This record gives sequence, structure tokens and C-alpha cells, in this order.
Amino acid sequence: MNTGNIILKNADILTMNDGPVLKYGDLWIADGKILRVKETAKETSANEKIGRAAFAGTPVIEGPDRVFLADAQVIDCTGCVVMPGLIDSHVHYDESYMGDFFLASGVTSVRNMRGFDGHAVWRDEILSGKRRGPYLYSSGPVYDGEDPTIPDNTNVIIRTEEDVEEAIRYTKGLGFLWMKTYPSIEPALYQYLMSRCREEKLPMCGHMTKRMDHKILADQGYVCCEHTSSLPSDPEVIAYLAECGMWFCPTHVVCETLPDYVWNGKQLKDLPHYEDLPSCVREKWEAENEVIIQNYRKLNVHPDFQTIIDRGTAFLKHSDRVMAGTDCPYPGIIPGIAMPEELEKLVKVYDMTVYDALRAATVNPAEHIGIAGEKGRILQGMDADVIVLDGNPLEAIGNIRKIRFVFQGKQYWSNEMLQGFLKEAGRLKQEEIEIITTREGKPLF
Ligand SMILES: [Zn+2]
Repeated sequence: MNTGNIILKNADILTMNDGPVLKYGDLWIADGKILRVKETAKETSANEKIGRAAFAGTPVIEGPDRVFLADAQVIDCTGCVVMPGLIDSHVHYDESYMGDFFLASGVTSVRNMRGFDGHAVWRDEILSGKRRGPYLYSSGPVYDGEDPTIPDNTNVIIRTEEDVEEAIRYTKGLGFLWMKTYPSIEPALYQYLMSRCREEKLPMCGHMTKRMDHKILADQGYVCCEHTSSLPSDPEVIAYLAECGMWFCPTHVVCETLPDYVWNGKQLKDLPHYEDLPSCVREKWEAENEVIIQNYRKLNVHPDFQTIIDRGTAFLKHSDRVMAGTDCPYPGIIPGIAMPEELEKLVKVYDMTVYDALRAATVNPAEHIGIAGEKGRILQGMDADVIVLDGNPLEAIGNIRKIRFVFQGKQYWSNEMLQGFLKEAGRLKQEEIEIITTREGKPLF
């Protein structure tokens, strides 16, 4: 639905703007932007659920406000909390069905961590309203060296300085925002890549490299560490990275899948909302998960999970530059659905306050991506990426699941509509799902 002029009335507004956290007020939305955040006196009588702005008994309003009000639709939000749309900071948005899963969970933007031509097309289509899905901010492909520690045939191998130049051309050429690297690139080439990325103002992120001093990476502008498992083991080095201002995206839930599925007997079919996924996705996950389980059992890998968590906690002792990311659609990580779980884990496992966990899904990624002037807070002039919740997430972070409306710029949907989209997406057959491919045409599925 197109927003036009909207008033979200009598809402508790969680602006994420660090001031007073909640206020009873009205949010005016015009043409996809937040026009005004008004604090109002608490009204006792509930207005019509959805209706036209009523003027009877209100003082005469002149000027632009009158024009706005004359055309505004009112949505009564008494008892609801309005907050910025969520940003999932680590996804692989490779399959078209995922878009509706994100939106139905209030995820209005994503940070995509492996980008090819198709992502640039989807990004532009979403921005222009041609495609329904979260706004897409992407890195380029994953660049790795020969003899990769994590073999993945969709990664691009860097062997020469010319490969570095091509990586920069491709990543920048499609308007991607980060150079993503894996750990196996030769140190000399890595140095060259870092210096060229600095010249080109292309920040680097990813799994860092264990072949080089992490402090050098931080000094030379490595901006974000993906996954707690990528942090170095030395607490002093962790503190150094944190104090350098490096960002950190723990992706805790996906890290837990390893002990859970391999050793603790958890099964995919036990996941909440598992049946909502398209059957071809479930089949693929089950096959993939079986391979993962067999491999780890054969190698008898028992990761010391607590040690990994301790590294993340050590980082957070020195920095609040943390972002909530899920790594969906890794088997077991359902797009959108996994986001509240990740936030719950940030609170439970990393001992973050609920407010800070919410920052990790709004203000922080907006700052990291470079869109803090448009997204992540509820402020006049910012994009109307807003979710309306039937409960206060500050009281219980799980209330983030109680979606009533999702606004994304000029569009908005009720929960009923979003659930309808999600059900439709879940019924898609393999051949109906669009899948992004690598430059060689390998599907990212
Ligand atoms: Zn990932």
C-alpha cells in the first residue's frame, strides 16, 4: 500500500535517539519521510482504528500542517510501540522468497555480505518500488586466496595484483559498499589489497586473516569483523581492535547451530516457522545440514563455544560498535524469523541491555553503512522505515515479534498482509524462486 500522508496516533515512540526513550505521541509520515514527531497529551478515548483525520474540536490549524491533515489517514496506535525498522547486518539475500520473510519480521533493510550483479539489480528494483523486499546494502563477492580455510566455490580467488584490481573494479563498479575477504589471501597480496582499498575508499570487512597481525588490519582500515569466531584469541588484541573503532557482527545464532545440530541433537524441523519455508528450501537445508553434521562428527570437532563467546564479550567490554546479524539463510537460520532470536541472544549471552541490543539492529548498522542521516532513528526528515509493535520490546525483547504494521519509505503493510505474502512465498516451487548467480552463472542456492 502506498503511504501518502499518515498519522500514527497515540503511540509510544521509541525513537532510538538516546533522549527520553519513550513518549506518548503522534508520528506524521508524508511521502515516505517522517514529517513530524509530536509529543501529545495522553488521550483517553481511542480513535477509529483507521480513518480520516478528525478536525472537530481541534484548534484551527493553518499552513502546511492543514494541507497535511486534510489528506491524512489516521492509524490509531494506542498501546502500540513505534520504532525504526530493523536492519539485519549479515545476510545472503540470494533467493527471491526471502524478501517477504524479512519484511514480515520488521526487517526493512539488510546488509548483504556477498554481492554479485543480481544483487545490484534487486537493490535498484527495491529502491524504486518494483520489487518487494528490504533495502539492500551489499559488499562485493567474497575474495579469498588459494587453499581456502572455508572452501566455497562461489568465492573469488585472488592470486595476483591484477586480480586485486579486478576485485576493486567489480566491487566499486556495481556500487557495492565493502570489500569482503576471507582469511587465505597471501599476506603480500593482502597488503596490496588493503593499500588499494584505502586509496579507493573501499572499506574492508569479513573474516580477517589469521596470516597477518590483526592490529595491522585494524590500523589499515579493516572496518568490520564478521562472526564471533573470527575474533583473535588474545584479549589484548581484541581490546585493540575494539578501541580502533572496528565494528563487530557476532552472528551468534548461526554460531550455535554447530554444537546444536552436530552434537546436541537439535533438528531443523523443530525450528519455529520451519514449515513456512518453501519445501525446496527445506529439502536443500536438510541435505546440507546432513553433510555438515557428518563432516564434523567424522572430524570429532567439538568447538570450545564458551571461549568463542568470551572473545565477543571481551570486544563488547571495549566498544559498543556491535551489529545484529543472522547469516540467513544458512541451514537453520530462517530469514527475518531469526532476527528476534539474535537480539535475544545479544541480551542473554553477551549481557547487553535490551536498548543496546535494539541499537545493534537500528542505529549502529545505519551508522556503519553510512545511512545514519536517513535510517535507524525516528527523527524529522528521516525515511519512514518504521515498525508498529503490539508490545514494548524494552519490557521484553521478544515483543519485537509482535508486528502490527511495517512502513518502508512510501509503502506500508499490515501484519495480515505481510503474513499473506509470507504464506505465498512459502508455497513457491523451486522453479518459481529467482536465484542470484555468480559471474560464472553458478546459482547461490
Ligand atoms: Zn555469511
